[in-house]
Amino acid sequence: MPAKVVQCRARVEAIRRLAPEILEVDLRLLEPAEFPFEAGQWVSVPFGPKRVRAYSIASTPVSRRQITLCADVAPGGIGSKWFRALTPGQVVEFKGPTGGFVFNRADPRRPLFVAEEIGIVPIRSILWDLCQTGLGRPATLIYWGRDPSWMAYHAEFGVMARRYPPFEYLPVVRDSGAGWQGEKGEAADVVDRAVPSVKGLIAYVSGGGEMINKVRAVLMAKGMERKAVRWEKFW
Ligand SMILES: Cc1cc2nc3c(=O)[nH]c(=O)nc-3n(C[C@H](O)[C@H](O)[C@H](O)COP(=O)(O)OP(=O)(O)OC[C@H]3O[C@@H](n4cnc5c(N)ncnc54)[C@H](O)[C@@H]3O)c2cc1C
Repeated sequence: MPAKVVQCRARVEAIRRLAPEILEVDLRLLEPAEFPFEAGQWVSVPFGPKRVRAYSIASTPVSRRQITLCADVAPGGIGSKWFRALTPGQVVEFKGPTGGFVFNRADPRRPLFVAEEIGIVPIRSILWDLCQTGLGRPATLIYWGRDPSWMAYHAEFGVMARRYPPFEYLPVVRDSGAGWQGEKGEAADVVDRAVPSVKGLIAYVSGGGEMINKVRAVLMAKGMERKAVRWEKFW
């Protein structure tokens, strides 16, 4: 049964700057004291009537009393300004959990995750949740950024790949400096190169609409059914 959407109050416990424009915040639940959710879901932060911003939960459902959000604050609108202004001890309100971009364990297909920059957030929650509860099958992550500084969780996926061998990590950037050991190009190019067959595959794609469409087109050209590509469009 999916958790009910509830109105929540939480206190800002900590804020971390993961990259020049990427902030992570820990929120300790005050009301209700616990916040059950499924990995991949999001909360909505209100900014007046009919004005909200959605933020995916970066942490995993194991932690019910404290959740972590992560935002790219470069867009600079009300959501980014709210994130930038957060201070420890501040009480914030949000509603959730919402969203169906969740991993279906009963589905025997092998997952391919594709994330564009901050679109990694729900996938990070899903992947750590799978690691914490038993991945059980091979999974691949293709994580794209314009350069490595926009890939806030790049280092930890390297660790995850070493610790959980069925997990394959393919980082990809458009521009790299010396020493970059991943792929170069666009997310859809790497999907094309890295996926020889779509048989028994399900894709979870998250980020901007343009990237989602390109990745879906590549997979469908290989014979994948449209509905086997699940997506979360951030912008
Ligand atoms: C289901 C869902 C989950 C989301 N989860 C997250 C999350 O975990 N972290 C997060 O940072 N954002 C997330 N977003 C996006 C978030 O809701 C806001 O749109 C974002 O923070 C920008 O809000 P803003 O008010 O600062 O700028 P706005 O004034 O809303 O946006 C300014 C412009 O920037 C575009 N834009 C928004 N985000 C980006 C981006 N990252 N890169 C390029 N262009 C962008 C918008 O389409 C718009 O044209 C999510 C969106 C959805 C729908």
